[in-house]
Amino acid sequence: MRSIPERMARGSPGGGPAARANAMSEVLLKGLKKVYDGGVTAVHDVNLAIKDKEFIVLVGPSGCGKSTTLRMVAGLEEISEGELYIDGRLCNNVEPKDRDIAMVFQSYALYPHMTVYDNMAFALKLKKVPKAEIDKKVKEVAAILDITQYLNRKPKALSGGQRQRVAIGRAMVRDPKVFLMDEPLSNLDAKLRNQMRAEIIKLRQRINTTFMYVTHDQTEAMTLGDRIVIMKDGFVNQIGTPVEVFDKPVNLFVAGFIGMPVMNFFDNCKLLYENDTYYVQIRNAKIKLDDFQQKALKQNNQPACDIVCGIRPQHISVGEGDLVATIEVNEMLGSEVNLHARSDADEVVMVIPTVDLTVDVSQGATVNFTTQPKLIQMFDKATGNNLVWYDADSANANAPVCKSYDF
Ligand code: ADP
Repeated sequence: MRSIPERMARGSPGGGPAARANAMSEVLLKGLKKVYDGGVTAVHDVNLAIKDKEFIVLVGPSGCGKSTTLRMVAGLEEISEGELYIDGRLCNNVEPKDRDIAMVFQSYALYPHMTVYDNMAFALKLKKVPKAEIDKKVKEVAAILDITQYLNRKPKALSGGQRQRVAIGRAMVRDPKVFLMDEPLSNLDAKLRNQMRAEIIKLRQRINTTFMYVTHDQTEAMTLGDRIVIMKDGFVNQIGTPVEVFDKPVNLFVAGFIGMPVMNFFDNCKLLYENDTYYVQIRNAKIKLDDFQQKALKQNNQPACDIVCGIRPQHISVGEGDLVATIEVNEMLGSEVNLHARSDADEVVMVIPTVDLTVDVSQGATVNFTTQPKLIQMFDKATGNNLVWYDADSANANAPVCKSYDF
């Protein structure tokens, strides 16, 4: 099977999806709200400016309102309040078929009695596109997706991954301004999901359009998104690049949702302020914070308070420091070892590169551990907001991003 970049190097027939390269496709969600008939508010005040050709991923646990948001953009759900603009055009009352969007669903039901070719041609036939043009388009998209050899088959004679490609192809032939995808990979097994994820990344480079992609899977979000929108209970909690949401989570929810294994949280810690200097007290360890944190906390006039501390498993080092834990489970993965340890009341997960191991970490061993101060996240115990990264202005505008500092 030739890879998509190879085919790009060979060039593809003119026109087609790539021809849209110069078209603009910005999507603006202004205060979008959805109240379902029974009175359930599924989405509260979503504000999001999607840039031309940006790949935006909406992510969050089941029921957080991501599909509803996408379906409002698609025109499959009425917008209860707010405004939706596609390319500057107010689209609240525009019919789905006139929005210049295409959507791929988790349950992408192909027409079983039609061949792959006819499945892909169907929407264009309905639009009364000339036959020769349909033929050219279907073949061109089939070549991009590597399904040319299946064009005469019926869907039942295809594997899950091939069917998924046909579903994507069916959407692509319409040359959408915006590609909407609702959990398109969640019906596939793990191996195929990884493969298709890579294909979507390549596809994106090839067709160069704006994507809105819904998933509950943080790995999918991190690997696919230019920016990620993290939702909970119908509210956007943070909008940011994968690096931002990983390094600068604005609250406990985002910190716990993004990252694998999940961030360790130490409840009942303290932020101390002594002689003009901030420290965190985690159990018996008093840790002086980094310069950047000192400046940020000072700028925020942060008083001493009760906090929850967060430390990522990958940011822990063993064999040094004042914190002590007993190893309960040791999972050797080759290049790294995952340790599940107990430190008084806390369960602590550590991911340690094997090259950095200098002490015994077998089951039952007691180890000292620590982290670099700059890698400690501090959350207000009362609000769950990150003392450094929560930005009240953006949160009040319901477009929460991490705070920026100019030092
Ligand atoms: P997600 O895609 O994040 O899993 P959804 O957008 O599907 O979440 O749903 C958000 C909330 O809206 C959920 O509480 C869900 O039960 C509710 N909901 C979804 N569709 C409907 C509907 N047609 N009528 C009433 N409530 C709905």
